[in-house]
Amino acid sequence: MSFSTQTKDELAHIYTEKRCCQLAELAALVRMDGTIYISSEHKVGLQVTTENAAVARKIFRLLKKVFALEPEIRVQRKTRLKKNNIYNVRLNPHPQMNSLLQELGILGEDGSILPGIKKSLVKKQCCRRCYLRGIFLGAGSVNSPEGNYHLEIITSNLEYAEDLARLINSYEGLQAKVSSRKNWHLVYLKESEQIVSFLNIIGAHQALLNFENVRIVKGMRNQVNRLVNCETANLNKTVNASLRQIENIKLIDDMIGIDKLSPRLRQIARLRLENPDTSLKELGEMMDPPVGKSGVNHRIRKIEELAEELRGRINTIKP
Ligand SMILES: [Zn+2]
Repeated sequence: MSFSTQTKDELAHIYTEKRCCQLAELAALVRMDGTIYISSEHKVGLQVTTENAAVARKIFRLLKKVFALEPEIRVQRKTRLKKNNIYNVRLNPHPQMNSLLQELGILGEDGSILPGIKKSLVKKQCCRRCYLRGIFLGAGSVNSPEGNYHLEIITSNLEYAEDLARLINSYEGLQAKVSSRKNWHLVYLKESEQIVSFLNIIGAHQALLNFENVRIVKGMRNQVNRLVNCETANLNKTVNASLRQIENIKLIDDMIGIDKLSPRLRQIARLRLENPDTSLKELGEMMDPPVGKSGVNHRIRKIEELAEELRGRINTIKP
């Protein structure tokens, strides 16, 4: 199950007791997934469509609770092209349909379609959260935190998208943006912290915890990778330096013999040949008596100088 579906399943099972909040959530769901249809008797009916069974049950229950109506649920079984079942929650035409659609903020008082969000639905703090929950259930999706951080709500109406972004941004720290495609408008959040805040506002607490866990593991993994890369770089440096030192020592041995070196240099030269992948600090600790890192550095430099001098001689011999 995708992270988005998991989040919606969690949200679909949250029910509030207050009618104001139930109305707000239902209004958002109808706004996102609803269609007004005209019956054969030229009367207005309402149908709300979703692919999520738990969301369909929620719409059904909210319609019953808020308006004391008896909606119908119809299931369109999946076909070869469609992966999921489609659930249609239907309210057949009835005399109060107009006032119901006005209360839901679909129609204005003059009977025309309301472009933005009806203010009274989101006036109270409690309702605002429920409205956003309904919006997300109806038209939202959120990427798994394993991938890119992205949460979006899709709508076909630009004015509505801008109103929605304003509503989301009324919460501190949230900066939803609107992006328009051909006939679609996306209201989206990109930053992981903003997505976490949004999930918190709409009550997706389990999803929020899962999101945070993945985010922490991801952060730790990045940190470990950085450390490993850093250590590998240091190790490469040590190995390259060591190869150079061994080359110098072998050259000295070939030309004059290690035994001709002073005891201090001889000891370090032998230790280096026997321990090619040891750091200078560790080499110093192996010496008898032990020598600090700067002491070891000094001796290695002496060997380097001697080797350079010997190389110079080879070059003068071979014109
Ligand atoms: Zn409320």
